[in-house]
Amino acid sequence: MTYDLYPVATTKLTKPMIPFEKAYEIVMGSVVRTGTERIPFTESPDRILSEDITSDIDMPPFDKSSMDGFACRRLEIHNELEIIETIQAGKKPENKLGRNQCARIMTGAAIPEGADCVIIVEETEILPSGKLRFIGTYIKDNIAYKGEDVIKGDLLLGAWRQIKPQDIGLIASAGKITVSVSRMPAVAVISSGNEIVEPQYVPGESQIRNSNSWQLMAQIARAGAKGRYYGIARDDKDETFQLVSRAIEENDLVIITGGVSMGDFDFVPGVLENAGVRLLFTRVAVQPGKPTTFGIHENAAVFGLPGNPVSSFMMFEVLVRPFIQAMMNYNWHPSCPEYPLKDDFSRKQTDRMALIPVRITEDGFVQTVEYHGSAHITALTGADGIITIPVGVNNLVKGTLLTFRQI
Ligand code: AMP
Ligand code: MG
Repeated sequence: MTYDLYPVATTKLTKPMIPFEKAYEIVMGSVVRTGTERIPFTESPDRILSEDITSDIDMPPFDKSSMDGFACRRLEIHNELEIIETIQAGKKPENKLGRNQCARIMTGAAIPEGADCVIIVEETEILPSGKLRFIGTYIKDNIAYKGEDVIKGDLLLGAWRQIKPQDIGLIASAGKITVSVSRMPAVAVISSGNEIVEPQYVPGESQIRNSNSWQLMAQIARAGAKGRYYGIARDDKDETFQLVSRAIEENDLVIITGGVSMGDFDFVPGVLENAGVRLLFTRVAVQPGKPTTFGIHENAAVFGLPGNPVSSFMMFEVLVRPFIQAMMNYNWHPSCPEYPLKDDFSRKQTDRMALIPVRITEDGFVQTVEYHGSAHITALTGADGIITIPVGVNNLVKGTLLTFRQI
């Protein structure tokens, strides 16, 4: 069966350009959760925790010494003390302290019965009689008491957070050798265009290296999902249809770049419709990124991103990344501090929200980087982040506070 026998897609030309906020709402309203899986905790860093972690023990689990020294009774501190045993970490004390007795004790060892403080080695001396004398002035307890940090049953980590290295320490202490985490969305990446060649080739005349696919694979990994590369679809409806259909079958999300503009070979929206995707928008009032396309299929959601690498990058950050994280029920908000604008800014057209690459200057300002448009890929590597200029705004005076999103 050839593509031409499929029903003719009509959506591409009839869908209007929608405001970015509306596009964001549609995207976030289309999220389907990926569900959860149980994995070894050692493999869980950076994953989204999907269960509450409680402690099965008190922490510390027993009264323990926080210093190397001598466990004794505070009331007898100025007496000469008999040393009755040495308590190593991991060893149970053998004796209860009697009158004027003490025990040599190591950091992390259990406090013997009868002791209420630990005097530190540096503030003691051993007398010729073999007894101990305190030569310091001020004494702290130097005891970490059973349960002072955590009581058995306490909530240690709430669900729906991204697991950090320090969380792993806590999970290990709680003895949770497996944890429930959100399943990572499987995200297919497809590039399109007859002119696109893979990075290992020197581009011939009229060819261009494939930067989008690999940039997207890296962005997908940073968003916490699993990228799967499906290759380059030639500007051929049938080939694109086959590749898109297979990607939809095998993944939770499909991202295809290129082929979404208004050129003669930009037939991706039509192909998506023929593959059973219900297109929800094909134009967004953003610059760059206007032809961004989004649709849903019963098996997967699909983004059609513009072919220009800067557009593809930006649209991923502002639409696809929040979508992926919501699939894992991770309510992620980029931290967006405000910085004053370094220089006056102006633009002529204001019908679209502008996304502009910027850097943070040493004196704490946000400054636009040299940027020739959506194919200017070095503008992104020279940038620390992006600012957005709302629809209707054409001039910003220097010093205006702007929200900065790190990239
Ligand atoms: P298109 O959206 O297909 O019209 O492509 C817009 C522009 O982006 C064209 O100049 C393409 O050559 C370029 N482009 C498309 N796909 C890629 C890609 N995977 N890597 C780098 N540039 C691309
Ligand atoms: Mg193209």
